[in-house]
Formats: sequence, structure tokens, C-alpha cells
Amino acid sequence: MSREQLHSFPRVPLLYGPSPVERWDRLTEDLGGKVEVWAKREDLNSGIAYGGNKTRKLEYLAADALAQGCDTLVSIGGVQSNHTRQVAAVAAKLGLKAVLVQEHWVDWDEVNYEKTGNILLSRILGAEVRLDDAGFDIGFRQSWQEAIDEVEARGGKPYPIPAGASDHPLGGHGFAGWAFEVEDQERDLGFTFDATIVCSVTGSTQGGMIAGFAHSDRAQSVIGIDASATVEKTHDQITRIAQRTAQAIGLGRELRPDEVVLLDRWHDGIYGVAGPRTIDAIQHLARTEGVISDPVYEGKSIAALIDLVREGYFPDGSRILYAHLGGQPALNAYTTAF
Ligand SMILES: *Cc1c(COP(=O)(O)O)cnc(C)c1O
Repeated sequence: MSREQLHSFPRVPLLYGPSPVERWDRLTEDLGGKVEVWAKREDLNSGIAYGGNKTRKLEYLAADALAQGCDTLVSIGGVQSNHTRQVAAVAAKLGLKAVLVQEHWVDWDEVNYEKTGNILLSRILGAEVRLDDAGFDIGFRQSWQEAIDEVEARGGKPYPIPAGASDHPLGGHGFAGWAFEVEDQERDLGFTFDATIVCSVTGSTQGGMIAGFAHSDRAQSVIGIDASATVEKTHDQITRIAQRTAQAIGLGRELRPDEVVLLDRWHDGIYGVAGPRTIDAIQHLARTEGVISDPVYEGKSIAALIDLVREGYFPDGSRILYAHLGGQPALNAYTTAF
């Protein structure tokens, strides 16, 4: 029943359709050829301001915002947040306003950090961008509440979207749908993936995948790679969102603790800064597949993918699906890392 129940929730189409799935032949060979590496390209999922995983989540939140007659999306993230850039783009596409609180989540000393990359795109997209000094936290923030109150005081109708569109009743729906989409694509390919690798920070990407795949009892094959460096918080949030989403789409049972897998070896000790292994991984992927990843998120999960395959974590003959969630625009604020 899960799939039908998910489809009963209103959704504004913001994606091109199913995101592409491709085999990474050269990376597969490079890593020994015994484990096949495939990728599902959420970085290519939409034509709206480069898309990415938040655009898929926002299909459900935007439908709710329109149904409630809201006129302003209010959200929060770091200065180089991919999420807030996607909120700005969705607002523009739907004729809404956007107010974005951009916190000081990352200590990255580069002259144009607050001017280029994602924040530049949000400004071009017409969002009201507010810089705030607070540090990294995926939880509730006073500055966000203040922005919401101000929109109301001006006579607007705000639609609050938490960091990463995650801790929200509809936050996990988009990636529950992703799991069903993978199963449709597997039917066409004629095989089933043995594991999915996904980067986790605010948790609803992995939480949604878990809720969707639990329907076929394969949630434990989703391997989360923490990039928050606040691993316990992220684990709790993934678990909470997975449970909530599973219940909303009628899984009909509680999730088990073993269905939430979050590995913590690749976050480089800090959110938003890449260590040498992450920089290596970004270059490795670029030079074997011509595919670009970023220093905040995907570079860390690519490093994990490379290490796990090399370490023999997956049995020979496995087919691994890497979820590429986007994030490339942030690279423009990280030139000195290369
Ligand atoms: C937000 C983001 C993630 C993490 O997803 P969560 O749902 O916040 O866990 C990973 N990669 C990219 C590129 C992102 O923008």
C-alpha cells in the first residue's frame, strides 16, 4: 500500500521525471572490477537552478504551501547552503517570495565565500538573503522564527521550511518516492541493487529512502555517510524522519534500529570543510568519470564509496548505487581547497 499512499499526497512537479541511472564503468574498473558502481543522478534531476536532492523534497512541501495559500517560503541554512538556493528557485518558479536565513555554519576563509556559489544564485533568483552569525546546527533556530514572524508582521503568509527541508511532516516523502523510482528502474535494468550509498546531514534524504525501501524489506541496504560531524544528532533525526515517513505512507510496522545505517568515518571531523581524503576523492571521481562532486557533501560520500569498495565491504559481484545529490555550485566558494 505504501506507494499508493505516498501518491495520495499532493505534489508539485519540479523534476524532469525519474532521475538518470548510469553505470560508472571506469570507476568500477579502477576499484578492481569486482563490485559494480552505478549512480543515480539527483544532481541532474531538474532544470530549476541546478536542482539536487532538496528540489525532490520540495515537490511535497511546495504543494502544501500552495494549498495553504502561503506567499513566502522561509528557510534556513549555511551561507553556501544548496538547500536555500533550491528554495529560492522553487519560490521563483511558483511565483512565491523567499526569505532565507544564512548562518555562519562553516569557518571557511575565502574572500568571496559570502558572495559566490549558492548565495549568489539565491540573490539572482530574487530571494531576501539574511546573513546571521550563528554556527552549525541542524535543529530549531530563533533567527528562523524571527524571519517567520517578520513576514507575518508585514502582512505576508509564511511557509516555514526547516534546514534541509528535513524536520517537517512532509520532509521524507520525496525520497520515499525515490526508493519506489529505483525499484521501477531496477525492473527495467533486470536486476536489484545490493546497496545504496547516500550522504546524510539533516537526514530526510536517507530517512525517506529508508521509509520507501522498508516496504520491500531492504532499508538496511541504505548506507548513510555522515557529513555533519554531529553524528548522534544526525542519526536521531534520520531515525525520527524515517519512522514518521513510514507511518505517513502506511508501512504498517515500526522500523527496527538495524534499518538505520550511518557510517561516521568520512566527515573529516567538521561540517563544511574537506580534508585531504575528500579532496582526493573529488579529483578521483572527476578524473575517472568526468563527474563533479563538492567538498561539503558528495566528496565525503565518494571517499566512503571508494574506501568501502577497496576494503571489501561489499561482496564480489555486488552492484552498488551511489546517490549523487548535487551540490556542485558550492565549489565556487572553495577554490583554495584545490
Ligand atoms: C543537503 C545535501 C545533502 C544531505 O542531505 P540531507 O537530507 O540533509 O541529509 C547531501 N548532499 C548535498 C549535495 C546536499 O545539498
